Amino acid sequence: MFLGHFALAMATKKVVPKASLGTLVLSAQFADCLWPVLLLLGVEQVRIAPGITRVTPLDFISYPISHSLLLQLVWGLLLGGAYFFWRHDFRTALVVGALLPTHWLLDYFAHRPDMPLYPGGPKVGLGMWNSLPLTVIIEFGLFCIGLLLYLRAACSKGRRSYGLWSFVLFLAVVYAASLFGPPPPSVRVVALSALALWLTIPWAAWGDRQREAQPANLSP
Ligand SMILES: [Zn+2]
Repeated sequence: MFLGHFALAMATKKVVPKASLGTLVLSAQFADCLWPVLLLLGVEQVRIAPGITRVTPLDFISYPISHSLLLQLVWGLLLGGAYFFWRHDFRTALVVGALLPTHWLLDYFAHRPDMPLYPGGPKVGLGMWNSLPLTVIIEFGLFCIGLLLYLRAACSKGRRSYGLWSFVLFLAVVYAASLFGPPPPSVRVVALSALALWLTIPWAAWGDRQREAQPANLSP
């Protein structure tokens, strides 16, 4: 899953208007931000196997730290805790923390049975990636719904929203290119290009500042 994670981050703005979209993206995509770092460090493994699913040529051999359910619950607890110490807002911290392991749930729908429940534990996955049409409908469908919910939660206040719209366009184009482009030449290229995900966090935060939540929701 790719766009679906961003969709859920955008949709969550309505629940916690005080949280920046950058924070919500960090939480929803924490696993995929951590993954290329662990790949480059040699801690987690992937290989390129064209045809292994209809959508992605990646065979996720081992990624228990970034992508097991147990560790994502732990990362959620840590991120929620960090947010609470930073902002002293328990409700927002709770939602920011709870958003993180939703990554596992969405990936569970998309991946082959390669998603570990815990390190060394059984692996599960429903395999949405075995169908290209289904993947396109679900990913772009969720993305549109998430964007609409976000637009309702954060008004533009008359300013132009370059940040948000460039962010949305970037994600849609990058994802379409990955769906219909050739398989990556090497694992190193996969890891280095996946590091670009970190950029989406400040980018989302920038877009969010241009479209702040309603004044009633702002901190005094
Ligand atoms: Zn993932």
